[in-house]
Amino acid sequence: MKAWLAALLLAAGTAHAGFDVAVTVDDLPAHGQLPPGVTRLDVAEAHLRAFRQFGVGEAFGFVNARKAESESDPVLIAWRKAGHPLGNHAYSHMNLGRAESLAAWEADVVAGEPLVEKHMQGADWKWFRYPNLSVGDGERRDAALAFLKSRGYRVADVSLAFSDWDYTDAYARCKAAGNEAAVVAMTAHYLRGVDISIAQALAESKAVYGRTIPLVLLTHVGAFSAVTLPEVLSRLKAAGARFVPLAQAQADPAYGRFGGGSLITREARAQNTKLPARVAADVLDVKAMCAAGSR
Ligand SMILES: [Zn+2]
Repeated sequence: MKAWLAALLLAAGTAHAGFDVAVTVDDLPAHGQLPPGVTRLDVAEAHLRAFRQFGVGEAFGFVNARKAESESDPVLIAWRKAGHPLGNHAYSHMNLGRAESLAAWEADVVAGEPLVEKHMQGADWKWFRYPNLSVGDGERRDAALAFLKSRGYRVADVSLAFSDWDYTDAYARCKAAGNEAAVVAMTAHYLRGVDISIAQALAESKAVYGRTIPLVLLTHVGAFSAVTLPEVLSRLKAAGARFVPLAQAQADPAYGRFGGGSLITREARAQNTKLPARVAADVLDVKAMCAAGSR
């Protein structure tokens, strides 16, 4: 572990006490572009191997049913076979804030249900993750939340994320171009960001709640996430993470304030608490890497 990270963790008082992390994975069965020769099932199986290796007993998968190959999508089958639950992420990943109407968005939620229910076979699948963490504004926000509650849903919150989605398509392009130097650079950049974000989340939790709250990690079922996941889980463990189920993490009273985006930022804004300054990450325009016209 880097010395500055160790110092930050020590300052946050978590180096020895440890902290709980629930793992959630969005956009099953398909997130972003794939590198040549890699299948959706390869990506999912790499995730499942990493969960086994690092003792993640529950990784909650959130499904966009429209992306499924068929009712018996191999990714969803593999996820369930490994014992991990599935929840609803809306049929077509419709963003509530940008949806044409509340009714259209509600129809997208309902359309996402049968496939998840089928694969969960009587187990509790009534968890919803808002696409893009967009919960809407004003009346639409309140009506949408009431709608979810009327259908028996709990909302899966987020308090830790590493922007893995920013790397997915660039990784696929660079692999296709055979640009391994770019892959090495983006991987190093991502993992430095992971270190910074873990330390930052712990420091922010301390600042906002006076303690380390259980964290809910948001990650995506993409090819880049798959190859970096062992390193990510290893870094979390080194920082003191214990992997727990989503329901256990969200049983903490910190998860009482509903809203969009990330929980700790939202709470800080509501309480007018100043968050600790972020350690600056080095700048790398990942989204432009290996793009047409660039080198
Ligand atoms: Zn998503």
